[in-house]
Amino acid sequence: MTPKGVVFARRIAIFAASNTLPTLRISVPGQKDIDMAVPKSKITRSKRGMRRSHDALKAPAYAECDNCGELKRPHHVCGACGHYREREVIAAVEADYDDDEAA
Ligand SMILES: [Zn+2]
Repeated sequence: MTPKGVVFARRIAIFAASNTLPTLRISVPGQKDIDMAVPKSKITRSKRGMRRSHDALKAPAYAECDNCGELKRPHHVCGACGHYREREVIAAVEADYDDDEAA
C-alpha cells in the first residue's frame, strides 16, 4: 500500500552515459525519468559551514522619525507624516479606514 500523495521511485540509479558526468536517474512508473546532477565529491562539515556563514538573515534597520516619532527606515521619507530631514517632502495623506465609506 502506498500512502496517498506519496510517489515512490521504483528505481534510483547512478547513471553515466559516455562523455557525460554521472547523473542520478530517478524512475517513476508512468512518468518521464528525471536526471539529477551528482556532486563530484563530499562537502566537508567545515566547507558547508563556511558556505552557510553568510546565510543568516538580518533584522531590518529602523529609526525614529524626527517629526512624528513613528518608526521608519533610515534615510527614507517617513511613511506616516511625509517628512525627511525635518522638511515635509510629501504631503501627508490622512488614512481613513472607516468601514461605511468602503462600500
Ligand atoms: Zn514622521
